[in-house]
Amino acid sequence: DVNVYNKIFEAVEKVPGANNPHRVRSRMIGNLYMITLDIEVNPQITITQAHEIADAVEKSIINSVDNVYDILVHVEPAGGCQTGEKFGVDKDMV
Ligand SMILES: [Zn+2]
Repeated sequence: DVNVYNKIFEAVEKVPGANNPHRVRSRMIGNLYMITLDIEVNPQITITQAHEIADAVEKSIINSVDNVYDILVHVEPAGGCQTGEKFGVDKDMV
């Protein structure tokens, strides 16, 4: 469902400090979505701040997407994302 991916990308864009959502995956568990994604954050911020951003991303997605079972946000330092992450959906694919 491409629409779900668009909603996820829009939800991440609303969160200050959450950049470059990628490797987005959603799968259905029954009629609920299990969503996983990577985001990039400023490498200089604290783990506490990064956790707050990840939490805000989860809340934003829950506000935008119906029927969410769970969300797992993987936080990476900006620019540190390895090439070769070939699973899931990037923004230019939807
Ligand atoms: Zn990544």
